Amino acid sequence: MAVIHQGPELAHPAIRLNRERCAGCQECIVRCPTGALQLDRADWICSPDEDLCVGCRQCERTCPYSAIAIDGPMLVAPAVEVPTWATEPLRYSTQEARRGFTDWEEAAAEASRCLQCPDPTCVLGCPAHNDIPGFIRALREGDLAAAHSTLRKTTIFPDICSRVCDQSIQCEGACSWNLAGGAPVQIGLLERFVADQHPVPPVSQPDQTVALSVAVVGAGPAGMSAAWELLAAGAQVVMYERDPQPLGVLRWGIPDFTLPEKIARRPLQALQAAGLQLVTGVEIGRDRPLGDLLAAHDAVILAHGATLPSALRAEGTESVPIEDATAFLTRAKEALVRRTDLTDLPPGSRLLVVGAGNTAMDVARTARRLGATVFAVEWMDRRFAKVRRDELEQAEREGVEIRFNTAVERFSTQTDGGVAAELRRTRQRSAKVRPAVLPEPPEALGPIDLVVVATGYRVDATPLRGLNASLPLPGAPRPVFRDRRLQATGLPSGSESMACLVEDRAAALARVQVPISGRVFAAGDALTGPATVVTAMAQGKAAARSAVSAWEQGNLRRSRAAEQRMAALPVTAPPSTRAVAKVAQPSALRMTGLALVIFGGVSCLSVVGLVWGVLPLLTGAFLLLLDVLGIWVNRMVEGILNLVEETPEIRSAVRREQTP
Ligand SMILES: Cc1cc2nc3c(=O)[nH]c(=O)nc-3n(C[C@H](O)[C@H](O)[C@H](O)COP(=O)(O)OP(=O)(O)OC[C@H]3O[C@@H](n4cnc5c(N)ncnc54)[C@H](O)[C@@H]3O)c2cc1C
Ligand code: SF4
Ligand code: SF4
Ligand code: SF4
Repeated sequence: MAVIHQGPELAHPAIRLNRERCAGCQECIVRCPTGALQLDRADWICSPDEDLCVGCRQCERTCPYSAIAIDGPMLVAPAVEVPTWATEPLRYSTQEARRGFTDWEEAAAEASRCLQCPDPTCVLGCPAHNDIPGFIRALREGDLAAAHSTLRKTTIFPDICSRVCDQSIQCEGACSWNLAGGAPVQIGLLERFVADQHPVPPVSQPDQTVALSVAVVGAGPAGMSAAWELLAAGAQVVMYERDPQPLGVLRWGIPDFTLPEKIARRPLQALQAAGLQLVTGVEIGRDRPLGDLLAAHDAVILAHGATLPSALRAEGTESVPIEDATAFLTRAKEALVRRTDLTDLPPGSRLLVVGAGNTAMDVARTARRLGATVFAVEWMDRRFAKVRRDELEQAEREGVEIRFNTAVERFSTQTDGGVAAELRRTRQRSAKVRPAVLPEPPEALGPIDLVVVATGYRVDATPLRGLNASLPLPGAPRPVFRDRRLQATGLPSGSESMACLVEDRAAALARVQVPISGRVFAAGDALTGPATVVTAMAQGKAAARSAVSAWEQGNLRRSRAAEQRMAALPVTAPPSTRAVAKVAQPSALRMTGLALVIFGGVSCLSVVGLVWGVLPLLTGAFLLLLDVLGIWVNRMVEGILNLVEETPEIRSAVRREQTP
């Protein structure tokens, strides 16, 4: 192979082409954003023009034959530096901690760094698939309105997502400059600049409404996005929210210094102006069954999030006040806005946050603003912790002491009456394995006045009562051969984790498109487990589209009719229910067996000895065995009888439904 250029101190990128390996497939040529690669038609191989090359290495990443390599620098201006707000005084501060671009000059300079890649990997990295090069191009041309409307085609939350997305593992993580090892285009800041210049546009509705009525459960990002899409299609939408206030995590969870509440509220105002009927303070599954909603509407979209906090598994938890992150954030956020202190956490108190993910950082940073000394412990390794890197840095800068590779083992009362947390060191070798606790003596951290648990959330199954489905759906097994699109963009070679993330998001979006049962769709954290605002938004939109298309194709009507016919069938308990009921009932055989086993066992252990004990013990065990065998035989017979009784009816009902 002929090496054309060598040396790390090149002033301009140099292209090394292995002519023998090049098959003329043109994968690099279609991706080169500067036209530096052309096809030499005589030899049918790639022909580089180094003068045009900017060193973005997209060709190197995507060549399937490894025939091209780039040496030398990346010709791109440094990223525009945006200083963080002076965080002092931190006390009671609700000021946004991350500053945006303040003027055109900053925004234009950053926009000029975008290569306008023909195969924009940033778009794949964004779960909403925003047209990133499109809106940046409009921004570069000075057309703010076009930039805004380009964004609005795919997102109803550009002002929110640009503040809360972890861009480093989404759009910016997949930016070509980042994949080449350089500083990505600051897409989030550009999106925020564009969105902040514009009011939220009204929902564009058709002239005539359609006869589709949908209930949306949950007023978080997934629910709001679903409602937006449905209203835009002309449907009637009723949104049921458990809390007295809507917005989900956007309201109680993400603090004002990350997402000001007035920004979080903007889309809801547009939704209500478009006719959304919001019913708050009603918990579906508890205050109102899902069946009621199905009776009153054509479809239901479950977007009730993942709201059950994980419990802390440690000893001695009764010796210290413990609260989950939801409860703490809800009251602390209010205190911060009112500039008051929490009575159980006066300034100078010591707070321990268990976990160092995004929720934990929100807890810790809020508590710092209320004057507490804050420690956070996380059993994962810092490299693998699921937290925004910039948020982690900000928390540390604000004085939060974060200990990774550390697990809480127990809480113990010290001689001075204070409570200390006993911490153990852990080791985690890769992101895929659970951390292992090391056999070192524990270290005490104390005194601790309050513990806040921020170790994750689970989906509450309450709204699903009576439905033959479960949430969140299990994750799809990852295919052995990665998605061809990802291979072609070179994402797996650029960053393994980025390709996996992109694939998982695509799989989740695909799952939204089928109802979880009959006329019930699900989206957001309820469908996937805890995720992000932008994925919830993208899924809400997709779920709404699926509901509209199911309605257009008549599937909702057919499902409803099938449900009505099923309801009219004679009620017979399913075999398993009857068998379980039978097992639970005491039977004479079982009671006699149990009595003999107990009598025999006690006799064996007593002085009376084996002679009087063994016989009743064995007889009792034999009777119990007979009982168990009887139950199984009974269950099998019942199952067969039920099949014989019910199957023809069910089959014929379904067959009738399938006939249009
Ligand atoms: C503290 C915290 C900080 C976070 N920070 C970020 C961040 O910075 N960036 C990011 O992208 N993501 C973040 N996330 C994750 C993100 O907020 C969620 O992924 C997102 O809000 C999910 O949206 P959702 O609509 O599915 O659920 P939610 O936002 O949870 O909304 C669900 C709504 O349904 C309601 N509900 C629940 N059960 C019922 C019922 N039975 N009947 C009626 N209503 C019901 C709830 O009250 C809630 O309003 C954070 C999460 C937490 C907890
Ligand atoms: S490094 Fe980038 S600009 Fe240079 S030839 Fe490759 S794709 Fe084109
Ligand atoms: S929505 Fe989030 S991931 Fe998508 S472009 Fe905006 S900031 Fe990036
Ligand atoms: S943001 Fe990055 S990946 Fe996207 S088009 Fe611009 S340079 Fe390419």
